[in-house]
Amino acid sequence: MIRFFNAINQLYSLNDTKIWYYLTNKQESENRMETREFNNGTYEEVSNHFIEAKKKDKFILKLNLYAILFIIVLAIPTLLLFGSFNIVIDGFESLVPAFLYMIAFLVFVVIHELLHGISFILFGKVKIKEVKFGLVLKSGMAYCISTVPVPIKAARISLMMPVYAVCIPLYIVGILLNSVGLALLAIFFLSGSIADFYYMWISRKVEKELYMFEEMPVESGYEIGYRIYRKVK
Ligand SMILES: [Zn+2]
Repeated sequence: MIRFFNAINQLYSLNDTKIWYYLTNKQESENRMETREFNNGTYEEVSNHFIEAKKKDKFILKLNLYAILFIIVLAIPTLLLFGSFNIVIDGFESLVPAFLYMIAFLVFVVIHELLHGISFILFGKVKIKEVKFGLVLKSGMAYCISTVPVPIKAARISLMMPVYAVCIPLYIVGILLNSVGLALLAIFFLSGSIADFYYMWISRKVEKELYMFEEMPVESGYEIGYRIYRKVK
């Protein structure tokens, strides 16, 4: 593993693309059974699922399009349910609700990441100090990453926790209070979990004794995807 990090350090002075190329492609050709030491044991890599460097921009664009599609597909029946197309249009004509939505979204981003972290601790037996929060300012991305591999079941609970704990309850509260604004906010928040849905989808067949691990973002960028590990000791 030291070799692995050395190689990254050497590449630091080059550019993002080369690092991503290394991270995503070199690993493929290397011995799949490479082991790595973590605080809580030794793991061997079973597979990795990273988006290739050259496909990353296109992938992010695709995720954003899915997020917009999500909003449209869910907002239409919601608006029909409330019978309130007019209210929404009126609301958005004023800048105040739009501004409040922005603030709410920023608050949600923080809560969203906290919920991922709390789930790692509660369900994945990860220690508080092994959970890292941060921001990648360049891409405006917030993250919560466990520095040790997380059992796949706990990792998947963590991925969906913001949906279970915020989006669904908020949508229900919106219906109960007859507030189309809250219901739409829930849909808006849900669309912010699009990458988590993507991870859920691609990890659906991972065997339950395995572990999920995401790399920490580095100065030069971050990886979309994760490694699957098996614990060896
Ligand atoms: Zn998330």
